[in-house]
Amino acid sequence: MSYAREIEAALKDGFLRRTLDKFAVEYRAGRDRVFAEVDERALIQRIADVKDDAARHMEELYERFRAEAEKRGAVVLRAKDAAEAREIIAAIAKENDVHKIVKSKSMTAEEIGLNAHLEAAGIEVNETDLGEWIVQLRHERPSHMVMPAIHLSRGQVADEFEKATGRAQDHEDVHKLVKTARAELRPKFHAADMGISGANFLIAETGSLAIVTNEGNGRLVNTLPRVHVALAGLDKLIPTLDDALTALQVLPRNATGQRLTSYVTFIDGATACAKSPTGRKILHIVLLDNGRADLARDPLFSQIYRCVRCGACANVCPVFRLVGGHRMGHVYVGAIGLVLTYLYHDRAAANKLCQNCVGCGACKDVCSGGIDLPRLIQEIRARFAKEDGEPVVSRLARYAMRKRTTFHRLLKFMRFVQKPFAGKDGFVRHLPMALFGKQGFKSLPALAKKSFRELWPTLLRPVEKPRFRIALFAGCALDFSLPHQLVAAMKVFAHFGVEVEFPMEQTCCGLPLVTLGEKETALEVARQNIAAFAGEYDAIVTLCASCASHLKHWYKDTLGAEAEAFSAKVMDFSSFVHDKLGLTKKDFTRLDWKVAYHASCHLCRALGVKEAPRALIAAAAHYTPTPEEESCCGFGGSWSFKFPEISKELMHKKLDNACSGDATHLALDCPGCTIQLRGGADREKRPIQVVHVAEVLAASLEAGAK
Ligand code: SF4
Ligand code: SF4
Repeated sequence: MSYAREIEAALKDGFLRRTLDKFAVEYRAGRDRVFAEVDERALIQRIADVKDDAARHMEELYERFRAEAEKRGAVVLRAKDAAEAREIIAAIAKENDVHKIVKSKSMTAEEIGLNAHLEAAGIEVNETDLGEWIVQLRHERPSHMVMPAIHLSRGQVADEFEKATGRAQDHEDVHKLVKTARAELRPKFHAADMGISGANFLIAETGSLAIVTNEGNGRLVNTLPRVHVALAGLDKLIPTLDDALTALQVLPRNATGQRLTSYVTFIDGATACAKSPTGRKILHIVLLDNGRADLARDPLFSQIYRCVRCGACANVCPVFRLVGGHRMGHVYVGAIGLVLTYLYHDRAAANKLCQNCVGCGACKDVCSGGIDLPRLIQEIRARFAKEDGEPVVSRLARYAMRKRTTFHRLLKFMRFVQKPFAGKDGFVRHLPMALFGKQGFKSLPALAKKSFRELWPTLLRPVEKPRFRIALFAGCALDFSLPHQLVAAMKVFAHFGVEVEFPMEQTCCGLPLVTLGEKETALEVARQNIAAFAGEYDAIVTLCASCASHLKHWYKDTLGAEAEAFSAKVMDFSSFVHDKLGLTKKDFTRLDWKVAYHASCHLCRALGVKEAPRALIAAAAHYTPTPEEESCCGFGGSWSFKFPEISKELMHKKLDNACSGDATHLALDCPGCTIQLRGGADREKRPIQVVHVAEVLAASLEAGAK
């Protein structure tokens, strides 16, 4: 089945949608609760520092771990790749006359395709984690790192158990199904010659394994059989027990919203074992390299070794929530799954999987190791774009956007072409919606009759004794399609004594070019903007959250010192008005509007701006909180054109939430989200008006002037 078809099928899977939706909401609430009692950011930073250091000293940690573990009776073996790891484990099985194996959950075993290899050698392999056993019965891959069978209903599980046991099963009672699994699996533990587990941490100072689980099967796998093989990547090496305990404060909180899992097992070497002929457990620890040592030296991608496999990046991903893990990963799922698929498993699969990331940044925000996952995904896309040859759309964008004058001439030409179809309300009308195909889920914005830059001479007002002198960065969408939002901002600036300049040489911020993998052109464009804003300004203010985050972060990260002064001055509109101007409710006349708020991904996560827009709305109108204000609206620039079905569902959900109370308006800080939600509200005839925060403030000032 093609990937597009797979996505369509997933979107039509009512059970999957309901389950993942429910899980996403409950997970967030549970996570917030348990993180409220610790310093989340400080812990994440500590994990990042420890794991970065561990990646830099991987070889030393490996040697120390090996020496300490062997002192305690374990045999430590290193496999250079998946094939060698499979061979090593098969050889251990042969050497020890192993016929039956029980396994606890190990993503590394999934990574090397271990089960199939052992089964081909005539060995019976039984998964014993409930979810893993279910997917093994179905010959499927796990759809989540922590909850492998989350995609299946209890009815589907009961069907599998009926096939496996030959007995009728209760299709409703989960407890009875769990009892069935226990009854089936318990004899397998007793009969097994070997147990295979993963490990969450390999503690170098003591040569110990730390295994974090919620089911008792892990301990049975490690203790009952005479042979225990622990398989883990070199990235699981960590210097001290103290470091592991730090990570343990985050891992369960992030994985399942628990303070601690039901079982945390530390294994210090070969312990006593009655079944073993020597009286001691035959313990082998297999450390998998599979590219890890090389990657640990990569300046950008080495950060993936901060991953503690908590699965949170899938839990909060809006795309995972809609389509599930089998469409959002390969062996590993979620954001880290996309990256690992590229690095370890299947580059062709990664090429298609990495396209479906909307770039919302939710994964980075919650990651236990603070990994910049969206940046890595973007880099992978750029590499594919280069390797695969430049697609036509990228070539066109490069040609059109490299020179500001060409780009703006093109936009004016498009405005001329769309004239017969542009409605008075700012949408493309007078065309049958069928023409738009799958893109017809929202009304499309028309280009404005006059761009902001054309209106600019009529807006210039002298400001006596200005409090601040700022430069306004428009961004293409606001300049050419939504100039009325910039006009509203001008009213606010004029009212509060802010002198504004609009440098005419400014052009697109370059974010769409980066998204298309056109990094070189994006750099040219960035330099044009830096030159255009070379004047003396207190701040460079933009009403576009996406532009703000790109100008602030990407420019500085990519151009370094060349962009430092420019990036430091960039501010989003709400932060400037709230933090710099210090406006509060005493400065506004309260409108009778009931205003819901959509927190744009680039504002609330990339820039970390949360309070300012909400405080401003509450000052000028009636702020009406609604569920999931910070979830993605599904725009993502060109992404919404590539994945219209997913984009539509995200938009629909966002509008449902915004309309769940009595809000009359939905305010936001980003033209991309405006295009998506205003178009969606119009198309779905929602009783809500989508506006920029600047429009709320301007309307309040106008009401006060009457
Ligand atoms: S950036 Fe958003 S869409 Fe992309 S992988 Fe992360 S959470 Fe998912
Ligand atoms: S990338 Fe981060 S959020 Fe995702 S599994 Fe790893 S640690 Fe957890």
